[in-house]
Amino acid sequence: MKTALPAWLADGHRHIWLPYTQMKTAAAPMPVVRTQGTHIELADGRILIDGIASWWTACHGYNHPHIAQAVRAQLDSLPHVMFGGLAHEPALTLARRLCGLLGPGLERVFFTESGSVSVEVALKMAMQYWFNQDEPQRRRIVAFRGGYHGDTFGTMAVCDPGVGMHAAFDGAVPRQDLHELPTDDARAEALDAWLRGHADHVAALLVEPLVQGAGGMRMHAPAVLARLREMADRHGILLIFDEIFTGFGRTGTMFAFEQASVRPDIVTLSKALTGGTLPLAATVASRRVFEGFWSDDPAHALMHGPTYMGNALACAAALASLDLFETEPRLAQVRGIERALRDGLAPCKALPHVRDVRVQGAIGAVELDRAPDRAALCRAFLDAGAWIRPLGSVVYLTPAFVMPPEELRRLTDAVCTVLAAPP
Ligand code: PLP
Repeated sequence: MKTALPAWLADGHRHIWLPYTQMKTAAAPMPVVRTQGTHIELADGRILIDGIASWWTACHGYNHPHIAQAVRAQLDSLPHVMFGGLAHEPALTLARRLCGLLGPGLERVFFTESGSVSVEVALKMAMQYWFNQDEPQRRRIVAFRGGYHGDTFGTMAVCDPGVGMHAAFDGAVPRQDLHELPTDDARAEALDAWLRGHADHVAALLVEPLVQGAGGMRMHAPAVLARLREMADRHGILLIFDEIFTGFGRTGTMFAFEQASVRPDIVTLSKALTGGTLPLAATVASRRVFEGFWSDDPAHALMHGPTYMGNALACAAALASLDLFETEPRLAQVRGIERALRDGLAPCKALPHVRDVRVQGAIGAVELDRAPDRAALCRAFLDAGAWIRPLGSVVYLTPAFVMPPEELRRLTDAVCTVLAAPP
């Protein structure tokens, strides 16, 4: 085993600014030299089983040759060209294929380069939709407790401040309306009552369907989405599903909303869209929303256009990723992972400081009754050969869908063993 830290880490660490990290007290990040399949290789030769799939993106595992080949070919012919006034095959073919997968009604794709920005675009679409309909007072967005939609100013306004990431900006962001998800009749009635008084100022309801991810892997029943659809329709409000975490098989179906048999007016996608290889996001609108912009008035056009939108390399990666959902048994693999997570994490239920164990598709979460010492817990997982990083009080697994059963077992064993005697 090699031991010396690489020079690039020691030298570069003085100049890098890391996400969500207190740079003074946090240990230096782990130097990664290679990824392959479900593995992360560190500079000292250690190979970790990745329990997180790089923030839930690498659904096919790392370095899948089909995606690599597609990106290489695209690099030689057309890596990027501006999307204003010009178009190219990867972006337009991807738009067509995404709409085919999303099903009838979701018809128009606006590409961006990150999940947060795709949510910003969804919010802008919803507000301008009403502006174009001569209802400019419909500016408010209803979002939900436990929700996380990104770190930009617009998305901070729709995150639950209780998730605890954005306290430094309290007051700087005009907060949108935050409600409890209608998980029971009382909450549904409370939301409905509020809407009865305010609906004519509301542009849209915004929710992460089935699983609120970064807010703590909080899961709800598909019936909640049906309730929201019904309320949105009754009050004439748009419904936005943020499928950035849940999309592309993570919850057991290609999109989480399929499990509720309801459809949103706008859906946001990112993360696993490129199989975890290149940054890309999409905001997909229904015909109704798109037609709200269809006009002879130039001021009714959607005023947004990131420089790298529709990047051809990223679109080629996304097309190759969609191929893999057709040629390899991804959703069946997710069902297998769901069973393995249920079985493998079940022993945690008996631990005294465990509040809840929950599983949905390829997402397994163990909620503790308080936030652990994350650094110490991560070190214990590393000793077990696993890359696992808790979110607050939630220890979770979101593995690649191709993870073999014996590796899944090593991950769930590591969670159970480490949590049985937390460091
Ligand atoms: N929405 C959801 C549901 C997410 O899980 C995330 C990221 O975790 C985002 C939005 C923000 O995406 P990004 O980090 O690409 O900006």
